[in-house]
Amino acid sequence: MGQDTAWSVAPDGGRPQGRTCSHTVTPTPTPTPTPGTALGEGCADCLARGWTWVRLRRCLTCGHIGCCDSSRGRHAYSHYLATGHPVAASMAPDEDWAWCFPDEVFLIRE
Ligand SMILES: [Zn+2]
Ligand SMILES: [Zn+2]
Ligand SMILES: [Zn+2]
Repeated sequence: MGQDTAWSVAPDGGRPQGRTCSHTVTPTPTPTPTPGTALGEGCADCLARGWTWVRLRRCLTCGHIGCCDSSRGRHAYSHYLATGHPVAASMAPDEDWAWCFPDEVFLIRE
């Protein structure tokens, strides 16, 4: 994954056409992995409660990791509500997309 990732709105037949996202210029932050955290990478809010999650999403603004809307905690969404950071990318290795909360659109890499 490059550091200059550009995102574009994905076509989605289930949504009205013409949706746009004004947040795609948000640069992908360069994560600064702290030694020792690699094994425990996950949703910190869930870990603190002993909960499990379904999928993880990484905030493209600050690198916060939260769980998806299918998870019990929905902490990626909580993070958006708390911070206003609009876009979170899926961290699943088989998924390559991001979700813009305020615009409610999927974003794909250009
Ligand atoms: Zn947007
Ligand atoms: Zn969580
Ligand atoms: Zn954030």
